Amino acid sequence: MNLFEVYKLWDIEPVKGAGTAIWDKNGIEYTDLYGGHAVISVGHCHPHYISRITEQLGKLGFYSNAVQNPLQKELAERLGKISGYGDYSLFLCNSGAEANENAIKTASFHTGRSKVMAFGKAFHGRTSGAVAATDNPKIQAPFNKTGNVVFAALEDLEGVEKELSGGDFAAVIIEGIQGVAGIYEPSGEFMRGLRSLCDKYGSILIIDEIQSGYGRTGKFFAHQHHGVRADIVTTAKGMANGFPIGGVLISPDIKPSYGMLGTTFGGNHLACTAALAVLDIIEDEHLIENAARVGEYFKEAFLGDSAIKEYRGRGLMIGLELKDEFIGLRDRLLFERHFFTGAAGASVIRLLPSLTVTQECAESFVKAWKELTGQSLPRPAEPPCFG
Ligand SMILES: *Cc1c(COP(=O)(O)O)cnc(C)c1O
Repeated sequence: MNLFEVYKLWDIEPVKGAGTAIWDKNGIEYTDLYGGHAVISVGHCHPHYISRITEQLGKLGFYSNAVQNPLQKELAERLGKISGYGDYSLFLCNSGAEANENAIKTASFHTGRSKVMAFGKAFHGRTSGAVAATDNPKIQAPFNKTGNVVFAALEDLEGVEKELSGGDFAAVIIEGIQGVAGIYEPSGEFMRGLRSLCDKYGSILIIDEIQSGYGRTGKFFAHQHHGVRADIVTTAKGMANGFPIGGVLISPDIKPSYGMLGTTFGGNHLACTAALAVLDIIEDEHLIENAARVGEYFKEAFLGDSAIKEYRGRGLMIGLELKDEFIGLRDRLLFERHFFTGAAGASVIRLLPSLTVTQECAESFVKAWKELTGQSLPRPAEPPCFG
């Protein structure tokens, strides 16, 4: 059987990783500043991560949600503490799209309504409900045009209110920072306005933190920079460093009932252990602080860069919008300098490195970038030491 070819692949076959380093089958070393779509949050093959998972695998890898699983309760508690959403409850599933799917479903159960508002350029996943809330013609399918999803424009509170005032929206779903679109952060004013409009018209505010969450932006969830709270938060990508898992954080105002949600694999022993290991490492190594610090270095190094039109993002969620004459730079960074980066269309380079990325590693990328674009290096990050 052939593979169903839906991906454009680089001609690189990684066989080994450690931290932000990756080696291909020919022994060539690459620096990973993409983390396989923001998934690798604590670096490749972290020793603590390996030891926790292998130990659990030797005890019990899986049982379904027919029995007690204290690892789920531990994960809920730890996640509640680190995220500041300790009074919420957690539903575990296996991916980002599934998390959004369950969030939308929960909102419609709770409100008895069927309509959902999403935003221009949004990406919420590939399953039927999640893709219906995705505004990207290459991803959207005719089948998913249900009519239940209405798209509004970011920053247009008036437009949002016009729709919501009809009173028939179960939910509004918005990314903490839009990722796939090319890194667009909604303003604090807009997020706070959205919060009050959802309250006013009885719609559930779902914030999709699948890409922007888990400490990447310098706070646990990106929307926390704006002092707003969601009714439901969805999370996935960085949650277990590549082990498939997704989570839905649900407000205490939304009550569960048996049979409302369900899953076979979700919250299994191995997945919970992988997620717990990630939280251990984030806390022990102060990775949220590191994300903020190294993110600030990237920002300083790239603001005013002559190859870019615009620097967007926060912390380690970065979009570099290239000037036309530098389109193609991503391939040169990969093949000439061995840096993995992400893209959004042809003109945006996305950096989504592991939260363990070091200042030194960031500097090596900036140096390669400035050399390839014919610029002089920015001033050193640390002032030189005299005496
Ligand atoms: C990746 C992503 C998803 C979908 O996650 P999957 O695990 O691929 O299903 C949903 N929302 C956002 C914001 C994402 O970046």
